Amino acid sequence: MGEVVPFKAKTPAQKHKGKSLCRSGFHKWEICAAKQFDTKQGKLVTRYRCQRCGAEKVKAL
Ligand SMILES: [Zn+2]
Repeated sequence: MGEVVPFKAKTPAQKHKGKSLCRSGFHKWEICAAKQFDTKQGKLVTRYRCQRCGAEKVKAL
């Protein structure tokens, strides 16, 4: 009696849902910096960042 059941805000499955999508290659890309000049490539690029896992990618224009 009187046993306290901890309140579970999120199940582990819900917690990992987003990242498992990322691992499958379905990142949620948002533009981090548009038309940025990349000195390595010598041209304009757009930087994208994943809202969930923070991965970044660069796309040349
Ligand atoms: Zn991601």
